Formats: sequence, C-alpha cells, structure tokens
Amino acid sequence: MEIVIRKKSAFKGLSLPENKVTAKKFIEVLSPPEKVTIPVQQSTGASCEFIIDRGDMVKTGQKIADSNSYVSSPIHSPISGKVSKIIKLVNPVTSGLIDAAVIESDGKDSWVELTQIFNMQKSEDFNSLRKIIESLDKKETLDMIREAGIVGLGGATFPTHVKLNPPPDKKIDTVILNGCECEPFITSDHRLMLENGREILMGLYIINSILSPENIYIAIEDNKRDAINKLQELIAMMDFSNLFKIVSLKSRYPMGAEKSLIKTVTGRTVPMGGLPMDVGVIVNNVATSKAIYDAVIEGKPLIDRVVTVTGNVINPKNLQVRLGISINSLIEKCGGFRGEINSVIAGGPMMGLSIVDMDFPVTKGTNCVLVMKRKIQDEQNCINCGRCVNVCPMNLMPLMYVRNVRSRNFESCREYFIDNCIECGSCAYVCPANIPIVGYIKTGKSVLARKKAVK
Ligand code: SF4
Ligand code: SF4
Repeated sequence: MEIVIRKKSAFKGLSLPENKVTAKKFIEVLSPPEKVTIPVQQSTGASCEFIIDRGDMVKTGQKIADSNSYVSSPIHSPISGKVSKIIKLVNPVTSGLIDAAVIESDGKDSWVELTQIFNMQKSEDFNSLRKIIESLDKKETLDMIREAGIVGLGGATFPTHVKLNPPPDKKIDTVILNGCECEPFITSDHRLMLENGREILMGLYIINSILSPENIYIAIEDNKRDAINKLQELIAMMDFSNLFKIVSLKSRYPMGAEKSLIKTVTGRTVPMGGLPMDVGVIVNNVATSKAIYDAVIEGKPLIDRVVTVTGNVINPKNLQVRLGISINSLIEKCGGFRGEINSVIAGGPMMGLSIVDMDFPVTKGTNCVLVMKRKIQDEQNCINCGRCVNVCPMNLMPLMYVRNVRSRNFESCREYFIDNCIECGSCAYVCPANIPIVGYIKTGKSVLARKKAVK
C-alpha cells in the first residue's frame, strides 16, 4: 500500500546549506553526570516552584518542582544524590534571573519506582500494546503526561497535556507528527526516527487514542529519505497502515514551523494571531511522541533527551544526555573546540540562543549545541530591497519592524502583525544590509508585551 504523499512547500522560505554532518552518527548514551543544574522553569506557561530544599536527598525521576497552574509542567531530578545549593542563573531567553537547583550525584543513579505497563524491548506483540492503549482512560493518560513533565521537545516547550486537551469548541480532525527538523546542523530528531521509530509510533497511537482525529500525518522533509523508509517499514510491521500517512515534504526552511507545516500538509491557513487548533489541527514533534510513550507505557518522567553537538568541535555527535548537564561537558565529550570560534548556540543557527555561560545546563528545549565562528558585519541602513518580505513564510513585512522599532513607534508594529512573526530568522539571513531584524522584532514584541502588562 502506498502510504507516502509528496508535497511542495506552500510558503516562500529558504533553501539553506544543510551541514547535517551528524546525520549518520548513532545516538550515544552518556552516563549520568556527577552534577546537574536544574532551572525551575523549563516550559512555557507558569513557572514551577521547587518542592525540595538544600540538603535534601533525591532519587532519579523524583519530582522536584511543580506549580498549581494548569499551563505548567513539573520538573524531575535527572540523577540521584544531594541538593547541594539553590543558585540564580541568567535565563538566556528573558535575560532575567531564575532559580536553579544544583544536585551532586551519589554515584548510584537510584530511581524512583516506575510503573511499566509493557516492555517493547522484550515483546513485539504490538496488538497487545495497542489494546492496552485503547483501554486507557483519556483523563488518566493526560494526567500521566502532565505528571511526567512532558513538553514540546522541538524547542517550543509548551506543556503537552494542555496541547492534547483542546477546549470542547475546538474540534481536532487532524494530527501532524513533526519530523521535519528543518534547521541546518541539527539531526537529533532524524536519529530518533531511525533508532526509536517504534516508540515514536506508539506515542502517536496514544495521541490518537486521546484525540481520535480523522487524519494522522507524519511529516518528514525529503532530505531524510532513510527516516521515511524506516517509519514506512515500521508502520506496515506494526499494522498502522490504515491510520498513519507519511507526508514527504520538499526540504525548505522553516518547514518545521507549525503554521508553515499546517499550510503545506493540509492547505489550511492558521489565522493571524490564531492557533493550529483554530483550524482543527494539533502538531507534535517526534521527540515529544517518544516522551509520551516513555511516560505512559514505561512510567518514565522526562529526565533526558537527545542533543546534537556540532559545528566547530573535534568530533560532532548525537548524545542522549540527562537534563541539567552543562553545555561545557557536552563540548568536552565531543573532543573540545576545533578551530576558531566566537559563538556557542543552544539550538540551530537560525533560531537558537547565544550562550555566554558555558556552565549553563541542557534543558528540556535544548535540541542542539552548535559551536560556530560567526562573521561580524556592520549593520547598514535599509535599502528597501524587499528581500526580507519576499522570503517571509508568514507573509509579513519585516522591514517595517526595523523602521518602527528604530523610531520607537512600537504601536505601529502591531499594525504589521508583529505577534505573528515566528522568529525564524529568514529575513535577517537574506538582508544585504546585515540588519539583525529578529533582534528588532524581539525588542518590539517585548516592549509591546510590557505595555500590555501595565495597562
Ligand atoms: S518577520 Fe518573522 S516570520 Fe517573517 S521571516 Fe522574519 S523572523 Fe521569520
Ligand atoms: S532585506 Fe534588509 S535592506 Fe532589504 S528591505 Fe529588508 S530590512 Fe531593508
């Protein structure tokens, strides 16, 4: 049965050099580190508060931070040991200070008790596992996903239990599993699809049991032909052919952004200021789907993730690491820096965040550590060439944000729908005047958000 649909991008976007040098590198599992640093906020929504204190002993997988707010996600200890101190860290997203717990390992990696309801390592009786999933209560499943601290692992870190529980007036007829990984250099999702495809597909079946959509698509860019073939083979083997359809997408940046992806796969346009659920769609990343499987079937909270460590390091790798390990340790595990460097980025070159403190930890949203030598070029005046407009996947006018933020006319940014900008960086990439357009956009958004908050 033909289960691969091929689609071209439904937006302008960019064709970027891929630089995916780790695409053939198997995921290497690192031993638990001697020390982890755990920031108290690792998802969008309300911040958690620590429920442990300095001097407490904790086990691997023990919940250490939580919130009463529904739109939040708890945090668990990635190692067993002693909470040695609570420190302040500079949050690279907001530049504000946040609390973080430092946990020193006891060397035992002693876990909390996990409730595993099936073991796919030991049994390939997929029908039995499907029946178990079908028998699960939806609310209890959502509670398990929440309690395990699952958030969007593509980088957005939105709490997954909230995304999978849309309001009753939002009928979801389509689920898209996002395996695009469109940013250059990053291959963590690609490797996960090749090495953990069964868990990803069973995670998707859990999503299906919660939402009962009419259409389920697995969207993968056509530069990952091996992942398409692997999942196609597993879909047939696990008897999912009538349920899941693979959509092979032309490789184009930013294909993996939710709104571009929805437009390309379904033809639907998410309205300005709207959400995917407004057009009946929910998008989940492949790594999130595996984490859902781990939580619901293996009883395992989110304490580790796969990170691509690449760029100017001696031996680029895909590493499965405990959350809280320092970025510096990952670079050391890859042999250290190679050649000239002036930039370390958490994430990819287009949307990642510059990291100044090398002791900053891997968090739930860290899919890549990229070491680069970036060209520093002087910013020139806008020459009104229109390239930024031509390339914007959201059909925005980026030059107007530059003009309005420079003249401190922030309200006008709203008239140009600044909130619809996904900060993909395409406009800045093509700008011949070297204008850091995304920086202007971030400033505009944050000033408008502050003005709204004081009203
Ligand atoms: S304006 Fe925003 S969405 Fe458009 S290209 Fe620039 S960063 Fe991307
Ligand atoms: S690409 Fe740069 S120079 Fe050209 S219109 Fe946009 S902001 Fe101006």
